Amino acid sequence: MLDFGMTIGGKSVAGDKTFDVFNPATGELVGRAPNATLDDLDRAVASAKAAFPAWAAKPDAERKAAVAALVAVLEENAEAIAHTLTLEQGKPLGGLGSRFELGGAQAWTGHTASLDLPVKVLQDNNEGRVELHRKPIGVVGSITPWNWPVMIAIWHIMPALRAGNTVVIKPSPFTPLSTLQTVALLSGKLPEGVLNIVTSDDQVANVGAAMSSHPDIGKIVFTGSCATGARVMKSAADTMKRLTLELGGNDAGIVLPDCDPNEIAEKLFWGAFINNGQTCAAMKRLYVHDDIHDAVCDAFVAYARNVKMGNGLDEVNVLGPVNNQMQFDKVASLVADAAKTGNVLLGGAPDEGLFFPITLVSDLPDDAPLIHEEQFGPALPIIRFTDVEEAIAAANASENGLGGSVWSKDVEKAKALALRLECGTAWINSHGGLNPVAPFGGAKMSGIGREFGEEGLFENTEIQVLHI
Ligand code: NAD
Repeated sequence: MLDFGMTIGGKSVAGDKTFDVFNPATGELVGRAPNATLDDLDRAVASAKAAFPAWAAKPDAERKAAVAALVAVLEENAEAIAHTLTLEQGKPLGGLGSRFELGGAQAWTGHTASLDLPVKVLQDNNEGRVELHRKPIGVVGSITPWNWPVMIAIWHIMPALRAGNTVVIKPSPFTPLSTLQTVALLSGKLPEGVLNIVTSDDQVANVGAAMSSHPDIGKIVFTGSCATGARVMKSAADTMKRLTLELGGNDAGIVLPDCDPNEIAEKLFWGAFINNGQTCAAMKRLYVHDDIHDAVCDAFVAYARNVKMGNGLDEVNVLGPVNNQMQFDKVASLVADAAKTGNVLLGGAPDEGLFFPITLVSDLPDDAPLIHEEQFGPALPIIRFTDVEEAIAAANASENGLGGSVWSKDVEKAKALALRLECGTAWINSHGGLNPVAPFGGAKMSGIGREFGEEGLFENTEIQVLHI
């Protein structure tokens, strides 16, 4: 039974109450997480606030080195954390699962540590010198979802620390254990109070909501659904918090008629079904030109049939269950609806427990909910088009704008079309791959701000201009 404390002010805190965490593959209890009260949150914020002046005052090179040293902590504990992650999240240990996620956590930490925050000279002449400095904000509050809990925690924590802020993180109640474990290990290598964690089931107290309005938190970095993101933004208004919001997506992929269906099938599959489709920037709608529509469907089905789904602890599996009942019910209802009006090419009916088979549906009417709503699970609509202008218009006819992709042998043509997609990231001949050097975030309802690279780091700073 996994049992990790919260880390507040460098100490492990059990909390007065706990909540249960279940393995989505088996339904078994895997561990218990502390159920924080609002007093616990206040203590965590107070610790972060107290630790801030000394951490912010450290020479930049020392902070860089401190963040760089965390890579080794993640590396040494990768297998243990990956195991916890598979138990509570369901994703497999292998494939693009838990070990892959821990590898990403190390890569992002290392890259973030390498970034500089130089003073920019805006003017230096007879009329004077003007310098732009980037200073830390204060306490950063991080709120994370259940799909990539360790990686997203790292995406939030590392740039905040690197820039000189201190952090209080709150993971999703579905996957608190791997973040508790990770933060305890990382915090042990940092000064007391620099990195704190509180966990909550969102029932005893809505800790996320309390963080969003907390007077001593200067910035919230939130990854989750659009609806909760909008709530965070509203409750952050009175304290004028800085915000980075990474929200939902309904990414379209557009396949042009010059593609070879068999060549692209594997990449299309993983673009849509990485982590069972429970990925913000997964491909969630696939538009395919009529000339090759049927051949792409056949190649996709042929590839998908051989992908092994099951308990993530069994090394043969590369896909696991849906993480939780709420998400399972959402996918099941969208698929049940799609089955009435479309052509189910594969899957379609729920398996045992939280396992839902890979489901492909073609020939849906334009207004089908499976096309317009974020399914966030193992079901993909495949939509036929004849004129690429129609496909671009349909791709952009979404309130979301996280990612998109264009698939063609003619890269220049694909680039021109990709630049017309209203989204924060567009890929040519792939979908969903992220890179620590490339700023990531959404257009429209998919969020505000960017993470990763220099732009992501800058979001953890306040500009101060000096006129000399
Ligand atoms: P969610 O919005 O339900 O929960 C996210 C977090 O917010 C959880 O920690 C939750 O406890 C907390 N929370 C709940 N109520 C809150 C409130 N009132 N104020 C503040 N925080 C509150 O999202 P989820 O179901 O965990 O995650 C799935 C969603 O996240 C999908 O829409 C997905 O596309 C999106 N997502 C986006 C990205 C991205 O980078 N853009 C990455 C991963 C997931």
